[in-house]
Amino acid sequence: TMSVNVIGAGLAGSEAAWQIAKRGVPVNLYEMRPVKNTPAHHTSQFAELVCTNSLRANGLSNAVGLLKEEMRRTDSLIMQSADAHAVPAGGALAVDREPFSQAITDKLSSLPNVTIHREELTGFPDGITVVATGPLTSPALADAIKQLNGDDGFYFYDAAAPILDEASIDMDKVYRKSRYDKGTADYLNCPMDEDQFHAFYEALIHADVAKSHDFEKEKFFDGCMPIEVMAKRGEKTMLFGPLKPVGLEDPRTGKRPYAVVQLRQDNAVGSLYNIVGFQTHLKWGEQKRVFRMIPGLENVAIVRYGVMHRNTFMNAPLVLAPTYESLKKPHLFFAGQMTGVEGYVESAASGMVAGINAARAAQGLAPVVFPEDTEVGAMAHYITHADPHHFQPMNANYGIMPKLDHKVRDKKTRNLEMADRALAALAAFQQAHAEQLV
Ligand code: FAD
Repeated sequence: TMSVNVIGAGLAGSEAAWQIAKRGVPVNLYEMRPVKNTPAHHTSQFAELVCTNSLRANGLSNAVGLLKEEMRRTDSLIMQSADAHAVPAGGALAVDREPFSQAITDKLSSLPNVTIHREELTGFPDGITVVATGPLTSPALADAIKQLNGDDGFYFYDAAAPILDEASIDMDKVYRKSRYDKGTADYLNCPMDEDQFHAFYEALIHADVAKSHDFEKEKFFDGCMPIEVMAKRGEKTMLFGPLKPVGLEDPRTGKRPYAVVQLRQDNAVGSLYNIVGFQTHLKWGEQKRVFRMIPGLENVAIVRYGVMHRNTFMNAPLVLAPTYESLKKPHLFFAGQMTGVEGYVESAASGMVAGINAARAAQGLAPVVFPEDTEVGAMAHYITHADPHHFQPMNANYGIMPKLDHKVRDKKTRNLEMADRALAALAAFQQAHAEQLV
């Protein structure tokens, strides 16, 4: 059989390599770490999570929950490992990041038809290839992609939240609770009164930020906006965002604090917590000074500071097919964040599709396009059919799927109906390709 090259063993590349190898097609998997690092990765493991340990909502009323379920039903390696290494996180699926990545690394390393090359590629190798080098693609390969696609490459900035040592949190000041007591009480909450909030707000908006190339032109992920940028939009803005107190009444007093900072467990043993929504671009010393103003964090040890990085993605509507094959070069596939899908799970899902189609190309089979009624298919459709003049990376969501043929007023009920339809469409699709897809 012909073999397939996969470049980058991140969320997308690991999933792609798995989908190819499990179909009996040999894989050459190229990963530059640890020989060459990225500004956000810290280990040499495959599928390292560079920021939060949360893969977001797990329930089917949320589209990213549906996306996960579709991936489970397509035998996703990322989902196998995520489920095996889940940590408590209310309605979300969060993972113990180290064993999560370790299991994926071990699995791919153990497959006889996967050959791992720890090296940076600076161009496209001959033969069927999946490029999944992520938002922090090394500059040489980024140039090659730019040359291939013409001028349709953009950039924007992205930020990660600090991680704290649990032992340094003042447990007398914080309380354990999840919002509206949903699920188990997985969050530590730091309550603020109005004066404390105001002092914190003032310190935050006047704190020193690290330099970036062109601050004015920065664009952020929605939901990954630096906390200081959000704060600068107005004193109340954070109270409707990460510091929202509703549903977080302090069980010791029964009262709702003026503001609440939430800490989310970051590893299985609970020795690390991240500050929810506190992606930041503050200088490290400033992070320590300002975040120690949060009640309970007066003496906190920050084990990983928040950081900000460049992020690159292509103008997929102009250069990519919904099979994730390049429109510019046959048998060259792209997957992951660089295609304009946004998020860990979305990246892995695109890797799944690119991997399936790369394997099919090696087997001499026609590529498949997942049905638009599935979230996997809706994402592929969206990034390849969006308006190229305003193209921005997209998270899984129900808004990009075809509407139901009848009206359902309640949003949750409607989403659950769409999830039912999606899983039925996936089953039919898998049945139709039964002899080839497995
Ligand atoms: P990656 O997981 O980054 O994998 C790419 C791999 O390719 C890496 O292992 C890299 O070392 C390797 N590589 C790069 N260039 C080469 C080369 N030339 N040759 C060989 N190997 C190469 N998403 C979320 O859902 N939640 C978050 O909290 C979140 N935070 C983020 C924070 C930051 C700082 C960044 C940059 C992104 C964040 N994202 C987040 C977005 C996105 O989900 C992740 O970046 C995700 O890892 C993307 O998956 P990927 O497979 O496309 O890329």
